[in-house]
Amino acid sequence: MPDFSLADWVLLLVVGVAVSLLLLLAVAVAVLLVVAAAFVVAVAFQGVWWLAARAADGVRQLAGRRPGATAATADARPGVWLACHTPVCGHMETLHERTATGALACRQCGQTVTPL
Ligand SMILES: [Zn+2]
Repeated sequence: MPDFSLADWVLLLVVGVAVSLLLLLAVAVAVLLVVAAAFVVAVAFQGVWWLAARAADGVRQLAGRRPGATAATADARPGVWLACHTPVCGHMETLHERTATGALACRQCGQTVTPL
């Protein structure tokens, strides 16, 4: 046991507490940095995902993926997009035209649907 005076012990205690607090502060800052980095990566990933989804939507629209979308430009008759539940149309949305009786007739298979 070294021969320390009371002032030495007090100084040693103060320095020890200060170093411990600094180490705790450093650990806290490191944890905060890691959490912030994970947050930034997550937000960036979401942004990239959102951009990719928007780009995919744009490509789909440019390609005219919707059935009849390209035909609609050639066939300018007005129509209503509705799901057609016949085996021919397979529950897909097709253009329907209003008939003289007020029903809607599928342009692909001719099935009439009475609007609600
Ligand atoms: Zn149909």
